Amino acid sequence: MSTAIVLLSGGMDSATLLYWALQQNYALQAVTFNYPSRPSQELKATRKIASSADVNCIEVALPFLKTAADIKKENSDAFKGVKLPEGYIPARNLIFYALAYYYAEVYGVNLIIGGHLKSDREGFPDATPTFFKEVERLVNSIKLRKEPNIQLLLPFIEKTKLDVVRIAIELGVPLELTWSCYYERDEHCGKCESCSERAEAFEKSGLKELANYSKRTR
Ligand SMILES: [Zn+2]
Repeated sequence: MSTAIVLLSGGMDSATLLYWALQQNYALQAVTFNYPSRPSQELKATRKIASSADVNCIEVALPFLKTAADIKKENSDAFKGVKLPEGYIPARNLIFYALAYYYAEVYGVNLIIGGHLKSDREGFPDATPTFFKEVERLVNSIKLRKEPNIQLLLPFIEKTKLDVVRIAIELGVPLELTWSCYYERDEHCGKCESCSERAEAFEKSGLKELANYSKRTR
C-alpha cells in the first residue's frame, strides 16, 4: 500500500478527495494549514472529516499568512490596480505545496494529492494545471532521493463542483461536516463566492444540502 500526503481544508472538495484516496487504497497522512483569516468552522470541519475517515491530520501554523483583503485593510496602497478574487492569498498554493513536499520528504512519501477543481483556476493563477506541473517539476529537481519521483496527483482538476457533489454522495462522504464559507460565522453566509458555488452545485444535483445557511439568497 503506498502512502500519500493529502491536503485537507475542511471544504467539500478536499473531503471528497480524502474519501476518494481511501477508496484507491492509499495510506493517508493529511496536512492542513492554519492562518489567521481561516474561519474557525473550517478548521473544526477539517478535524471532524479527518476523524470520520480515521486519518491523522498534521496542523501547520502559518500565523503570517493573510488574505489580500486583510492586507489591504492595513495598507490601502497594497495591490493597487489589481483585481483581487474573493479569498485571494498571495502565493497560497506555492506555500501549501512547498509544505506538503516538506512532509513528503520527511515521511519518504512519493505522492501528494490535492483537491483542486476546474473552476479554481478562474482568477487564481496558482491553481492552474500549468502551475501544478511546475511545482511537480520543481520538487523533483530539488529532492535528494532521486528515485522514485514525487507525483502530484490532482484527480479533480477537470471536474466541476457538481461532479464533486455526485462523487461525494457515491463515496458516502459526510458533506454535512464540511465548511465552505470564506467567513467567520456560525452558519454558511450563502452569499460569498464559495457558498454560492456550493449552493448552486447542490441545486443542480437535486440532492439535499445538509449545511445550514444563515441568509439564503437563492
Ligand atoms: Zn459564505
